[in-house]
Amino acid sequence: MSVEISGRLLSALVNAQRVVAFTGAGVSAESGVPTFRGNDGIWEKFKPEELANLNAFMRSPELVWEWYAHRKRIIAEIQPNPGHYALAKMEQMLPHFAIITQNIDNLHRRAGSKNVYELHGNIERNYCMKCRTPYSDDEIIGRDVPCLPRCRRCNGLIRPDVVWFGELLPEDEWGKSVSAAESADVLFSIGTSGVVYPAASIPLMAKRQGAFIVEINPQPTLLTDHVDEFLLGASGVILPELYSRFILEHQPPEP
Ligand SMILES: [Zn+2]
Repeated sequence: MSVEISGRLLSALVNAQRVVAFTGAGVSAESGVPTFRGNDGIWEKFKPEELANLNAFMRSPELVWEWYAHRKRIIAEIQPNPGHYALAKMEQMLPHFAIITQNIDNLHRRAGSKNVYELHGNIERNYCMKCRTPYSDDEIIGRDVPCLPRCRRCNGLIRPDVVWFGELLPEDEWGKSVSAAESADVLFSIGTSGVVYPAASIPLMAKRQGAFIVEINPQPTLLTDHVDEFLLGASGVILPELYSRFILEHQPPEP
């Protein structure tokens, strides 16, 4: 299947100073990251929102940690897909490139992307709820059974560095994301359904400031009517194709 990429998009990209890729669950799903809803062994009886919230954690931290240890193990085995790698290569070719992601699986960084704003945290990181000391998975997972990691400094509870249901987005990452979106010349909205606010407002912020908006998705979304270009399909197919077309355009012609 060949991908229809317009000359308008290519020239917007070649002339762009600032490009943002805003990514969501669809990008992770293409790598095989499960949604942790439904048929997931012993965890089948829980909905993610019943475990991924502060009340559940304070009530039964062992249970929530056991679930996260399980999720961390699964995600650690999963690899970035060609779309993740294409975005990492694009970063090297453009003067300013940022990824704003709603995904917590760390696959953008593992693919080599450097400038990544994580709106919902990162499942490979953890921190002490009392003193904010960060902890890597190696430092805490498997130390206790049942797993209930505590801070070496203050004995506080350690939690995964992810945004739970009912929690605000990290202020710093959100602020950087808004500035990146508002100063973008081109913004890609990739694999995101555009329904989870406030994150979903990112593409519209860029559009209001005059950015060229491109959506890449296997089906239309609420955003589709507002974009300059809609590319229907898998980001793991479209992004590598877009990157190679971009490289061809980008190279100065032979003298
Ligand atoms: Zn501590």
